[in-house]
Amino acid sequence: MAPDTPTDLRTEVHDLIALTPETRLRLAGLACARCGSTESLRPGGHAYTHSPDGGRLGWTVKVCANCPVHPSQESELRS
Ligand SMILES: [Zn+2]
Repeated sequence: MAPDTPTDLRTEVHDLIALTPETRLRLAGLACARCGSTESLRPGGHAYTHSPDGGRLGWTVKVCANCPVHPSQESELRS
């Protein structure tokens, strides 16, 4: 995995200009927001980018069958 590829798109607010093409696929809901897989995608909540007016822009993203729908669920699964 490339160093500049976020682990989970939904855990931080991103700068749209700084996103890689691969990350843009995740934002568009064409790949898993967490791992980038394109298999068995399902609704995965929202990811956010900085908006030019200083706010946040929400994107409806998807996750694959292997990734948690909510990032917070992951820590629960680990414990
Ligand atoms: Zn995934």
